[in-house]
Amino acid sequence: MRCFDCAALGHPADAVAVCAGCGAGVCHDHAHVAPRWLTRTAVINRIVAVEPPARVIRCGLCQQAADAAAGQQPSTAQRRRRP
Ligand SMILES: [Zn+2]
Ligand SMILES: [Zn+2]
Repeated sequence: MRCFDCAALGHPADAVAVCAGCGAGVCHDHAHVAPRWLTRTAVINRIVAVEPPARVIRCGLCQQAADAAAGQQPSTAQRRRRP
């Protein structure tokens, strides 16, 4: 599979992952890796995040959309903090 964004720019590159949002292939440069915190229910229905966080890989556009939906400024996903 080739990177969708690189192909759109006219220089096809191999994809290393698939965007979790749109399913496009993404190369290492176009992949955004963000933590995805899974939760479990503890005593008295407390919802607690478990360690380590899972991983979600998105293309640049889907990461921007996810940031916008979360009310964050567009940025690198690595800066995202634990909820
Ligand atoms: Zn690319
Ligand atoms: Zn995407």
